[in-house]
Amino acid sequence: MAGERVLVVDDRRDNIEFVVDYILKPNGYEALTAKDGEEGLRKALTEDPDLIIMDNNMPKMTGLQVMEALKEKGLTIPVILMTFHGSESLAVQFFRLGVKDYMIKPFTVEEILESIDRALTEVRLRKERDQALASLVQANRQLGRRVKELKILYGIGKSVTSLLDLEKLLARVVEAAVYITGAEECFLMLVDEDTGELYIRAAQGLKERYPQSLKLRVEDSIADGVVRTGEAVMIGGPASEKDIRTAYLVKALLSAPLKTKDKVIGVLSVDNKTSDKTFTDNDLYLLSALADYAATAIENAQLFTAVKSERSKLETIIGSTEDAVIITDSETRVLLLNKAARRAFGIESAEVTNKPIAQVVKNESLINLFIRSIDDSQIQRGEIPLEDGHTLNANLTPIPGVGYAAVMQDITYLKELDRMKSEFVSNVSHDLRSPLTTIKGFVQLLPKAGPLTPLQQEFSAKVLKGVDNITELIGDLLDLGKIEAGVGLEMDVCQVEAIINKTVEELRSQAEAKRQRLDVELTPQLSPVLGNDLRLGQVVANLVGNAIKYTPEGGLISVRASNDDGQIVVSVQDTGFGIPPTDQPYIFDKFYRVESEETDDISGTGLGLAIVKSVIERHNGRVWVESEPGVGSTFTFILPKYNWQKV
Ligand code: ADP
Repeated sequence: MAGERVLVVDDRRDNIEFVVDYILKPNGYEALTAKDGEEGLRKALTEDPDLIIMDNNMPKMTGLQVMEALKEKGLTIPVILMTFHGSESLAVQFFRLGVKDYMIKPFTVEEILESIDRALTEVRLRKERDQALASLVQANRQLGRRVKELKILYGIGKSVTSLLDLEKLLARVVEAAVYITGAEECFLMLVDEDTGELYIRAAQGLKERYPQSLKLRVEDSIADGVVRTGEAVMIGGPASEKDIRTAYLVKALLSAPLKTKDKVIGVLSVDNKTSDKTFTDNDLYLLSALADYAATAIENAQLFTAVKSERSKLETIIGSTEDAVIITDSETRVLLLNKAARRAFGIESAEVTNKPIAQVVKNESLINLFIRSIDDSQIQRGEIPLEDGHTLNANLTPIPGVGYAAVMQDITYLKELDRMKSEFVSNVSHDLRSPLTTIKGFVQLLPKAGPLTPLQQEFSAKVLKGVDNITELIGDLLDLGKIEAGVGLEMDVCQVEAIINKTVEELRSQAEAKRQRLDVELTPQLSPVLGNDLRLGQVVANLVGNAIKYTPEGGLISVRASNDDGQIVVSVQDTGFGIPPTDQPYIFDKFYRVESEETDDISGTGLGLAIVKSVIERHNGRVWVESEPGVGSTFTFILPKYNWQKV
């Protein structure tokens, strides 16, 4: 590699010329010259040559002295010594001082060239090694700095993402942004979800311009651009001052988007307002990384705040409700228990959260309700008697992912009302029936008091008929009242087949009196239903009774029952007068009777079908009619089959 600088030091001009003109220049080396040792030393110190070719015997300073001086100064420029006569002791001294070669004049061009090349190869290698070392040191330093930055960033990220208080979090983010970029100012803007406008939510170094304002609308085209594109922006350098059209004038600016999974929620910006220091790509990288941490943390904090406020709203609502509410996790450990529940179950301990329900509430009925719910994960309902005599009606609902929610209303007054109603119904039925029985008894006794005139007989017959009608009406009314109030409606497993057969046999004489055929067709192995024997008997009696009443002499009445996919179907068909379509929608209403010539003389209360409907609906069934005037009617009802697994 030519181009290296070689200093030739010799007091003889012809020697210098020989070396410079015949050896150095033709081989591409740059030559420096000195005519004595002193000048040689000076030039070695100031010009920093790559190699020195030097004579020993020179005025002012010998070659040996120059080398000693160089060594003293710590210089390690390689030296080739030229001398006329060799002396071993001189050579030893030179080599001790580190001379590279020792050449006895006269020497050939090849010899000196070879020597120069050897000495410079060493220099080159050393230089390359020094350069490699320097760049290694540089790379190490950079790596060290990057590791430090990443550690800081990681630390900041950790501290930021652990904060759930939004205001504290925002303040921490701007503080960190200033720290990692060395900027003069920082501001964090968030997008308002409703308007899409940007608001400054936290700032550092902006105090003099935005005193105490923490929610300040900004119109900033750069920040708007960052939100729109989702890309970070770096603008900098003193020259671009005029180009920075932010909300105010700055000299250098970095803006990074606060990006969550699917949208940009704000912008994190740092700037230098007075300093000429521009930002680097590394600053942008660090700010963007911080913005990523911040965006996730802000989203978490916002979600947390929303959940917290929802929870406190829920707690307020549940706390202030009159119903007792207990919410547990899936292991029935208490999550929430309101004041009404504390009052009802006499819970005094302040801390009940996370304790098993059985430890907190000492009420067997409620605990059993929880046990039942765990067993079949269905809504459980039940009455919960309390120690103070009150009764709660509890609904225990399993909530997937949460556990169980028990909501309990105080039904003490309803139970009392129920008891009073039952008492009233039975009293009234007794009080109304007994005077009628008395009237009927005395009217029947009238002939015994003396012979009645034909007119008196006719009147007393009418009184008796009237009393019968009123008795039937009262009976129907009381029945309807009882059914609607759910009084005396104890449910048990019923065999519909037996109910139908028994009722039909009781009515058979009435049908025979009108020479009607009364057929019964029942599917074998009719499924049982859960119901009230007496009331279901009343349904069949009312329908078959009506069929007999509203079918002329000699007609046909068929009672059928069959199983049909989870329910049983019972129908009563007749070949009677039928019901006009306009009346059909109303015949199940209380007191509704069809007005027609054929039925005018037939007595009734208009309550029979209302009772049928009420009883069937109480049994979770349905009843309807199909009828054609002059052809006949079919009344059908369905009842759900009894499912023993569900009970
Ligand atoms: P009522 O005591 O009048 O029989 P219901 O409630 O049993 O009262 O019946 C209401 C009305 O529906 C009856 O008045 C009658 O007009 C009509 N109705 C009931 N069953 C039949 C039937 N099988 N055929 C024709 N009409 C009927």
